[in-house]
Amino acid sequence: MPGHLLTLNAGSSSIKFALFDAAGDLAAPVQAGQVEGIGTRGGPADHTQALRQVLDRLGPAPVAAVGHRIVHGGTHFEAPCIVDDAVLAQIEALAPLAPLHQPHNLAGVRAAQAAFPGVPQVACFDTAFHRTMPEVHQRFALPEELFRRGIRRYGFHGLSYESIAAQLAARQPALAAGRAVVAHLGNGCSMCALQGGRSVATTMSFSPLDGLTMGTRCGRLDAAVVLHLQQQEGWPVDDVSRLLHEGSGLLGLSGLASDMRELEAAAAQGHEGATRAIDHFVEQVLRELAALAAALRGLDAVVFTGGIGENSAGLRARIVQGARWLGLQLDDEANRLGPRGPGRITTDDSPVQALVLRTNEEAVIARHTARLTGVGSS
Ligand code: ADP
Repeated sequence: MPGHLLTLNAGSSSIKFALFDAAGDLAAPVQAGQVEGIGTRGGPADHTQALRQVLDRLGPAPVAAVGHRIVHGGTHFEAPCIVDDAVLAQIEALAPLAPLHQPHNLAGVRAAQAAFPGVPQVACFDTAFHRTMPEVHQRFALPEELFRRGIRRYGFHGLSYESIAAQLAARQPALAAGRAVVAHLGNGCSMCALQGGRSVATTMSFSPLDGLTMGTRCGRLDAAVVLHLQQQEGWPVDDVSRLLHEGSGLLGLSGLASDMRELEAAAAQGHEGATRAIDHFVEQVLRELAALAAALRGLDAVVFTGGIGENSAGLRARIVQGARWLGLQLDDEANRLGPRGPGRITTDDSPVQALVLRTNEEAVIARHTARLTGVGSS
């Protein structure tokens, strides 16, 4: 069937889109972009209006199927699926588990259903990739009853890890068959332990707030801090939520910015807060790397991806050098080239290899959408 595949990633204030020729290369979109500022003055009023702007940009290309990134698939969704009324209801029922993301993802699906009546829609879940985690890595040390009610470690960034696992298998099959830790370092950051390409453990857990120090999210935090702020200091719940999601991480530590590029520039000028934030970031990555290597009972490869992982040679160097004791030996020149070079950033004889790969979540969504709908060549 001819036509195009559209992928949508609807967030709180933006819709990212990519358009693929269904009969062409599903790793390379013919067009991609985003509409930002949803709900702000001068921006589109809602997701329906934002999608209309996306469609205006797409022009007359006939869309034969739409694939969506959905943050939460709970324990039910272990793989992508075609959206029907029952699936939509299940996605909606999971909204309380991801109140900051799921409602926007849903709004994107509804807007696309209205814009493309009769066109199949596919849901791709960020949690699904981690359904392979052994139970011990899915549990908090909480009563069993809570686990059964869904208070558990789900893990996120699954589409990115799927993209990296596939790229690693294509480039370095021996490493892909072994034990790898992937560091997805962007605005949101997480790491995942892969055994033979399957998720064993990951740093984000019940929500995308846990784990590493992120742009504005706090990452790993003693739950008693939340209790203290509420019970002793009388903070309203919404203020605590805003602090942890929007005012912490690199932004909170630096008092300057959530953007790593900006922080690196400021640190180079001697900005104390920026230096503090970057030091914290590196230290948490190193601690989690060791923890995930322990979960794998060893380590064969580390892969960097995401905006920071792909672009900051300085941070990669600090992390690889800090993990020398684990068997990583940096190749300075290859690291400077990053994804523009051979991809590998450790020396030939490094016992553990490190690589830089560009994540391509849209391509993962496009592939699943093509497969499930039969649109395109695959
Ligand atoms: P998201 O998680 O929103 O998809 P990205 O994966 O694009 O975000 O990552 C954004 C982060 O990558 C920002 O902190 C940005 O500063 C950082 N980044 C992008 N390019 C560079 C660079 N050349 N050097 C350092 N950091 C960079």
